[in-house]
Amino acid sequence: MSTPVPTPTIFDKIIAGQIPCHKVYEDAQVLAFLDINPLSPGHTLVIPKEAKPMLDQLSDDAAAAIGRVLPRLCRAVMKATGSSEYNVLQNNGAGAHQVVMHVHFHIIPKLPDGRGLGIGWKSGPFDHKDGAELAKKIAAGL
Ligand code: AMP
Repeated sequence: MSTPVPTPTIFDKIIAGQIPCHKVYEDAQVLAFLDINPLSPGHTLVIPKEAKPMLDQLSDDAAAAIGRVLPRLCRAVMKATGSSEYNVLQNNGAGAHQVVMHVHFHIIPKLPDGRGLGIGWKSGPFDHKDGAELAKKIAAGL
């Protein structure tokens, strides 16, 4: 049986120039453009050209390429919008609010009037014994 070819997402089509975008940055491995449904003005998406749905599937090379430009893009978004605060959001999986199944980082200016990302952060208690075991288990999977 042959490996199924992944269906191109809307972001693959933007990378290929088949769908227009308001581009703010491009290099050989990364593209950044304005989000079409912004939470605040300047809401920017940063995507690898590598077509992977979720961050854990991304190659080290593509991840490094994103990491190299992400802070610079954050600075440019802040400078252009005059915002001094922002969130970087990266959703993985439909249950985690991912709609477009191509890795992307949101840069979302947070404005004094409340526009930007709203977060429901329901934290729970921490058990140090369980935490110690979990940290070891995670480290063993690297
Ligand atoms: P997520 O929920 O993390 O998958 O976010 C996907 C984001 O892609 C949403 O914020 C959409 O507004 C944005 N989006 C979808 N289609 C386009 C497009 N053609 N151009 C720009 N942004 C888009």
